[in-house]
Amino acid sequence: MKAVQVVGYHTGLQLTEIPEPTVEGPLDVIVRIGGAGVCRTDLHILEGQWEAKSGVALPYTIGHENAGWVHAVGDAVSNVAVGDKVILHPLITCGLCRACRSGDDVHCQNSTFPGIDVDGGYAEYLRTTARSVVRIDDSLEPADVAALADAGLTAYHAVAKVAQTTRPGDVCVVIGAGGLGHIGIQVLKAISAVTVVVVDRNPAAVELAVKIGADHGIVADGGHIDRVLELTGGHGAEAVVDFVGEGGATREGIAMLRRAGNYYVVGYGENIDVPTIDVISTEINFIGNLVGSYNDLQELMTLAAQGKVTLHTTTYPLASFQQALDDLDAGRVRGRAILVP
Ligand SMILES: [Zn+2]
Ligand SMILES: [Zn+2]
Repeated sequence: MKAVQVVGYHTGLQLTEIPEPTVEGPLDVIVRIGGAGVCRTDLHILEGQWEAKSGVALPYTIGHENAGWVHAVGDAVSNVAVGDKVILHPLITCGLCRACRSGDDVHCQNSTFPGIDVDGGYAEYLRTTARSVVRIDDSLEPADVAALADAGLTAYHAVAKVAQTTRPGDVCVVIGAGGLGHIGIQVLKAISAVTVVVVDRNPAAVELAVKIGADHGIVADGGHIDRVLELTGGHGAEAVVDFVGEGGATREGIAMLRRAGNYYVVGYGENIDVPTIDVISTEINFIGNLVGSYNDLQELMTLAAQGKVTLHTTTYPLASFQQALDDLDAGRVRGRAILVP
């Protein structure tokens, strides 16, 4: 089959011919890829940022945002059948460790990560297991939802926590209305009763955020902290979801947070610099967010099937992988780039 592989760092990916993956264990599921999302993490992999962390042996097939059709299953697989449309939870998890047993797949102690440390989805077929396949509604197509497997799941995981800890009328500030923020806003409107206030430097992104449901859009032009304080009677927001995490976003975001508020860190890059006396005297909380669980993905797919979460995509044939990566790198992709084998 055709696959796009990492053959070295600081060098291009290569389209090559490799053997199709086969069922090796009783719970294995082979998926025929219908769409593989092209993610900024893929660029970081090629820059060598993941080399030490993943320890993956080269060459291997990249691509961690995958959806498609079940092509073959092991003897013990009972939750999907050949031909089913599925989206893949990004990790392959053991199901036996304490984290897995509490539904916290991301912290599995014995996981692998297709596209990061084993073969991923820039290919015609991929091997995963029964634990990682989420059946999707007939109305959804793999290429349309593939990017929800990682980008969408991450946004869902963070804002679902907001939905659980807020009451109707509370305010949630969303910093950054890009790919993840876009999903986060739609999910907040679907599953919570918070007033959603979106802050972004880009006026076009703010306009789009309001179009998809944000209650207030604020362009980050210098007066944005005051605008949020005005909207909240001077108190700040009960929740701030930070999809940026760099360029001063955390300092500004914390200034928008109410006493006893929750600050959800999703985007990353800079240090959070808060005097500990401010943390204790206001009882503010900082909450990290990493991808999401299998159940999160299933819930997100329910919202997608209900038409409450949609994702703009631009598709490319698998062989045009370099074009997709170049377009992503240059900021030319509208929504998410998806490779279709
Ligand atoms: Zn990704
Ligand atoms: Zn586990």
